[in-house]
Amino acid sequence: GPRPPVTTTRTTCGYCGVGCALDVLTEGEDVVAVLPARDGPVNRGHACVKGRFAHAFRTSPERLTRPLLRRDGRLEPVSWDEALGHVARGLRAALAAGGPGAVAAISSARATNEENYLVQKFMRTVIGSNSVDNCSRLCHSPSAAGLTAAFGLAGGTDSFDDVERADCLLVAGANPADAHPVVGARLLRRVLGGARLVVADPRAVGLARHADVHLRPRPGTNVALFHGLAHVLLAEGLTDEGFLRERATGLPELAVLLAGYPPDRVEAITGVPAADVVAAARLYGRAGRPAILYGLGVTEHLHGTDGVRALANLAILRGAVGTGRGYGVNPLRGQNNVQGASDMGALPDLLPGYQKVTDPAARERAARVWGSEVPREPGLRIPEMFAAARSGALRALWIVGEDVCATDPDATRVAQALEACPLVVCHELFLSETARRADVVLPAASWLEKDGTFVNFDRRFQRVRPALDPPGEARADFAIVHALAGALGADLGCPTPAAALAECARVAPLFAGVSHERLDREGALHWPVPDPDGPGQARLYTERFATAGGRARLAARPYLPPGEEPDGDYPLVLVTGRRWAHYNSGGMTRRTGNLRLDGTDRLDLHPADAARYGLRDGDPVTVESRHGRARLVAHVGDETAPGQLFCAFHFPSSGVNTLTSANADTVTSCPEYKVTAVRLLID
Ligand code: SF4
Repeated sequence: GPRPPVTTTRTTCGYCGVGCALDVLTEGEDVVAVLPARDGPVNRGHACVKGRFAHAFRTSPERLTRPLLRRDGRLEPVSWDEALGHVARGLRAALAAGGPGAVAAISSARATNEENYLVQKFMRTVIGSNSVDNCSRLCHSPSAAGLTAAFGLAGGTDSFDDVERADCLLVAGANPADAHPVVGARLLRRVLGGARLVVADPRAVGLARHADVHLRPRPGTNVALFHGLAHVLLAEGLTDEGFLRERATGLPELAVLLAGYPPDRVEAITGVPAADVVAAARLYGRAGRPAILYGLGVTEHLHGTDGVRALANLAILRGAVGTGRGYGVNPLRGQNNVQGASDMGALPDLLPGYQKVTDPAARERAARVWGSEVPREPGLRIPEMFAAARSGALRALWIVGEDVCATDPDATRVAQALEACPLVVCHELFLSETARRADVVLPAASWLEKDGTFVNFDRRFQRVRPALDPPGEARADFAIVHALAGALGADLGCPTPAAALAECARVAPLFAGVSHERLDREGALHWPVPDPDGPGQARLYTERFATAGGRARLAARPYLPPGEEPDGDYPLVLVTGRRWAHYNSGGMTRRTGNLRLDGTDRLDLHPADAARYGLRDGDPVTVESRHGRARLVAHVGDETAPGQLFCAFHFPSSGVNTLTSANADTVTSCPEYKVTAVRLLID
């Protein structure tokens, strides 16, 4: 017969937090091409190898197309009615046995805002518990906490577009060339165009080759390094005294603390030469338009929130935030919608729009819209959910599209938690490490099959539009949450994603002016959008900071060592992160042609360490920590410093996250993925 016409659907990439606008060309049920949109607000005609080419997972024979239910130890296909009936009975049993506190949900940074909104509404109104969290707990929860404490809101301070005007970039704990390639390319273009560049990262990441100064701190010593930079700013008068006087608090306490971080002491703690500390501080301190961008190398530490605060200190000392001219302090978010999942209130202590559950006015506002009381006690964080499951207190765990058994730290104990929990329900595209252990697996739609919105790393709401239908009986998470509510005899209202975002706008003043209709008409919108007719706000705090007193807050927190340090038994330090061809647990990208670009988790090690252990490139190697063991392939090169190792976590079969510890940020419980003491076992 005649070929179906080619249809073009404008949507937003479902991989990383850059939020590239893509045109998906389909012919019938086939993706013909995915093209980066020239008018994409962030990507401007660019995309990386993931967003552009990694879509064949959609039609993988391993794609889940029917609900699965565990019977006699095996997962078997069943009807939706049967699966939902089983979940409803399990939830009722959990509630009867332990009350609302016996049920918890892990929502998804890959799901849309509307889906996250619905999951948290389900937990709060149908279950009556605030025990809902999302994987920002594992990546940028220290950003939310640190930026809120310093400036007032839980997002970056400025638009990424301002990078085009910055004359000095401080990129800390981030590898944008691999993890955010389109941002990496824009940063590089700016550097080639004349901006000075300071990279702070233990590894020689791609961007470091172009740096004026590359600071390579020992993993876990960021806070001391940033204090060293701040010490030089103060000592050399590179601060903005007017800004500090009028718009900031906390200088006297910080000055006392910083006196203890002269460059030579910072060298002793971090391993960074004192002269480099001074040179980097002078570059940042003397620039007219200095910008800070940072990633998980800052947050995923025992003192990750302190790291964010210490970076914020630099911008405040320098008066380089809240100026209305851009720059500021901006986190590079990992997953496509990790900002949005938090914005929507999929957090145990915060309602949509970062309103505290302990705030009676916020609870009342939500209760009015929802027609239901909102529980006042903060719920469980993800690591607390696993602990509660192991202890028997948690009786039902609902996991929306996160492969926690592959990506969460100390994975052996995560698996034990799932095994101990009487009901584990999982939405998934594939039989992931987590789905394998679930009691009910519900087949979900991918980002190419969904309607809604994402919020990217610089607070931009963007539309997500379905280019295709989900395969078989798979359903969008949005429909699954509604169906689960229906199985419990509840009605969540807001039947469409557009209605859900409209309702969220009534609950959360921060997003009061956002709607699908407006996004369709105007394109992207930076939150806050407090007014349906007013603009979004790309640059925050131009008048005042959103803290109680309206001033930015300096933080005087001392450097404290990481949870694990190398010793005689475990003499090396492992850092984990991402590589360019794959995404997180690789559930999607491993089922595409990207597998030919990168087919295994490798262990990067320095030639000196390779020689010490008699390892050559390509040799199999076993890595052991106090928590577990992983099998990897040695990759010898000088990207890692001597004594340090690096690997990604894109191939769950290698077991990388059995190595990582349960140590976590003391403020937010964000795991310390970036410092694990390990040893190598040679075959
Ligand atoms: Fe853009 Fe990130 Fe998608 Fe790559 S993965 S196309 S950088 S949004």
